[in-house]
Amino acid sequence: MNVVIRTESPELAPADPLDHLADILFHRMGSDGVYARTALYEDVVERLAALITRHREAGTEVMRFPPVMSRAQLEKSGYLKSFPNLLGCVCGLHGTEREIHSAVARFDAGGDWTTSLSPADLVLSPAACYPVYPIAASRGPLPAGGLRFDVAADCFRREPSRHLDRLQSFRMREYVCIGSPDDVSTFRERWMARAQAIARDLGLTFKVDQASDPFFGRVGQMKAVSQKQQSLKFELLVPLRSEEQPTACMSFNYHRDHFGTTWGITDAHGEPAHTGCVAFGMDRLAVAMFATHGTEPAKWPIKVREMLGLAVHASADAHIEGWR
Ligand code: ATP
Ligand code: ZN
Ligand code: MG
Repeated sequence: MNVVIRTESPELAPADPLDHLADILFHRMGSDGVYARTALYEDVVERLAALITRHREAGTEVMRFPPVMSRAQLEKSGYLKSFPNLLGCVCGLHGTEREIHSAVARFDAGGDWTTSLSPADLVLSPAACYPVYPIAASRGPLPAGGLRFDVAADCFRREPSRHLDRLQSFRMREYVCIGSPDDVSTFRERWMARAQAIARDLGLTFKVDQASDPFFGRVGQMKAVSQKQQSLKFELLVPLRSEEQPTACMSFNYHRDHFGTTWGITDAHGEPAHTGCVAFGMDRLAVAMFATHGTEPAKWPIKVREMLGLAVHASADAHIEGWR
């Protein structure tokens, strides 16, 4: 008789290297990848956001987006061709009063009320930059040198995971450039250098590597290959759980003329605008800070504390001393 010895059961599965942070950074909310945040964690997110703001280039327009956006705009952007599996769509009970009552009555009787749901004209934003392109398009041809934006949103991607660096609901901050091919490629080069300086200032171990998006399906795999061949995406990777599978905490994306053509944005020469963005995963960066430096910011390296405004400056000390 063969005896099957099971070496793996959920209880015995090795703990993920980030698990020890869960109770310090988050409160569970009953769903993987959706967490309430502790004050300790949120303070670091806010300080990271302030650090990124300090690096904002002059002439950059600030916009903050809600967590939802127009479904029609996201459809037009081509999202369903690339990542239909990740999209969250807002739906509601849109029927008559009678139909809505009957859906609720089904629930009260222990049945399924959700079969009465129908889609609204909104989706949960899967990235912070999508809404900025139609807004830019509405302003007419681009000025020489193009336009730059600082955008942010709470983003949703339907990729439930128990790993603390892969959330379903997370914050994304982006700098976006809309302009000529030259405007966008120099923008991306500047930001790839600047982002590495930020990561160094934060005391993070990292490497920057070419990457591809997780395009859906078999055709998607071909898109990913072509994206890599054209060097359209780079990521700043931090080895949070292993060197082999590092975590992307920032990405540097060149969309060529995709959004320019889609939204009819033309550059100063009348050509379809090119676009690019640098995206900061705010929650991943914060998790990376705690994973790297420990759970007590008071004990983080002094240089890192200074960067985040956590350390009292020597001059401020002297000032306080002077008053005593
Ligand atoms: P990954 O390859 O890890 O799935 P991605 O290529 O899907 O990342 P982007 O689409 O470039 O990521 O998103 C920009 C940034 O947003 C990422 O670099 C990352 O920091 C953050 N991000 C993306 N997905 C998640 C997630 N599920 N949870 C937390 N942060 C995320
Ligand atoms: Zn973007
Ligand atoms: Mg992803």
